[in-house]
Amino acid sequence: MTRLARSHALALVGAASFAMALPLAAQEKVDTATIARIRAEAMDHSQIMDIMSWLTDVYGPRLTWGPNVKKAADWTMTTMKSWGLANVHLENWYVPNALGWANEYFALNAVSPNPFIVAAVPRAWSAGTNGRVTGPAVRVQVGCLAELQQNYAGKLKNAFILPAAAFAGPVNEFLAMATRSSDSALMNIAFPAPTVGRGGAGFPGAGNGGAAPPPSAICAQAAAAQAVATPVAAGGRGGGRGGFNVTGDTTALRWMQAQGVAAVLLGGRGGSNSIGGDIATDNGASRVTGAPRVPMVHVATESYGRIVRMVERNVPVTLALEMQNRFYPTDTASFNILGEIPGTDPALKDEVVMIGGHFDSWHSGTGATDNGAGSGIMLEAMRILKTLNLQPRRTIRIGLWTGEEQGLYGSAAYVKQHYGARDSTGFYPTPEQAKFAAYFNVDNGSGKIRGVYLQGMSAEWPIFDAWMGPFKRDGMRTLTNSNTGGTDHLSYVAVGLPGFQFIQDPLEYGARTHHTNQDVYERLQPDDMKWNAAVVASFAWQAAQRDEKLPRPPQPGAVTGGRGGRGGQ
Ligand SMILES: [Zn+2]
Repeated sequence: MTRLARSHALALVGAASFAMALPLAAQEKVDTATIARIRAEAMDHSQIMDIMSWLTDVYGPRLTWGPNVKKAADWTMTTMKSWGLANVHLENWYVPNALGWANEYFALNAVSPNPFIVAAVPRAWSAGTNGRVTGPAVRVQVGCLAELQQNYAGKLKNAFILPAAAFAGPVNEFLAMATRSSDSALMNIAFPAPTVGRGGAGFPGAGNGGAAPPPSAICAQAAAAQAVATPVAAGGRGGGRGGFNVTGDTTALRWMQAQGVAAVLLGGRGGSNSIGGDIATDNGASRVTGAPRVPMVHVATESYGRIVRMVERNVPVTLALEMQNRFYPTDTASFNILGEIPGTDPALKDEVVMIGGHFDSWHSGTGATDNGAGSGIMLEAMRILKTLNLQPRRTIRIGLWTGEEQGLYGSAAYVKQHYGARDSTGFYPTPEQAKFAAYFNVDNGSGKIRGVYLQGMSAEWPIFDAWMGPFKRDGMRTLTNSNTGGTDHLSYVAVGLPGFQFIQDPLEYGARTHHTNQDVYERLQPDDMKWNAAVVASFAWQAAQRDEKLPRPPQPGAVTGGRGGRGGQ
């Protein structure tokens, strides 16, 4: 279908559902007077950037189970109480392999052939070094464990392992890194074209653009032996098309630890010294008691490329690393932060409208756009509602979750405890579940809210279309039936409750700040943050004042197949 035909068709569909929504939207009551007061407080008397400086500059980053996140939570609760919020408390949740970690000192330098600073950050839950360690940079290119052991045994003492090729580059950003959604981009969100399948994965750590090497004779032999030994696992340890993940293979890590390597260096993501630090991929393997502890470091693309290119030209490179990391073994829980503005309508005050986002962050920046922004927006929304002394009919509750980056742990635990559990035998809602009205989430950076993802709940279209009314002129006009994934509203939808994430301008969230060392205060857009707090406070108010609770998605049944869509974002 040509682009023109498609946009005509979309306009028709849009028009049709819009036409259908019109009469219903017209029926939806919108408290424009209160929303105007909310906007004035949000734009003219904002405290959001002060909140953000405390959450990031003073208490960031907020890695789950780490020392900072609890201090940040204490500050947050004291602040919520100072605004007069009620029932401010922590609710604990627990998962196995809870392990706190924090970096206390880090320096990585090239010593020879010429001294230079290597732009890098520790990998979360990485072991530290025993003081300053100096050694050679070694490019390790293997297709399987057998090849690693056969080719490098006894040669890796104090070596800095380079498991991936340099990023082919260049990293010039001809396109602006920060973008706002254009009308056509929003149209594509509102009416997405059908999706087609995506390509396979590359060599591990090949964020540097390296292609997977063909399996070597050693690996083919090892794979054949493996196939005989354990038919099911054939191809598990390399020799297969997907290559070999040095950093994700516990046996390889344990072997390298025994070989006395200094550290494994992982290439960065993209350019301009933007260094990732997350380990969203290891499913907590590095937090397991007894996990192999090899120092691991994420290196900026530019520094990583310089080292690899010299090594590939047989110019020996000597590096020196000092990394002090502290582990906080804990069998205690992590927590969620809660507080509320009690409802006042006798018939509705036991019903609850929730707003929230995850409070935890990764560690290489200060967790400003992910997700200090979402937490700050929710706190400011509560401050605005309280400052205006608004008396909602239903209770409005804020929920700030930890453990999101590790798998939505906090919000999933909260929903399970309060609203119901699902397992392979069925769905077991609690009495509280019937009293739940709505949940609104922010976790796509600090960009301006432009609309709402309806997660397939098209019944909300006319309602939210009306609620957006006061904001349409300034850019919030988009609704889509599509889902958006990877964050805490999914915990609500999973148990048949109306949970929503807003559509936000991308700014440079994906291109620069998401899980990188550049996720800091300076990357927040103050006017967008103020606007977002106004939108969230208004939606919470509308949901609290509405005669009916919001329509719900289909009630879920038993869990079937995989865990279903619970990745952190
Ligand atoms: Zn996030």
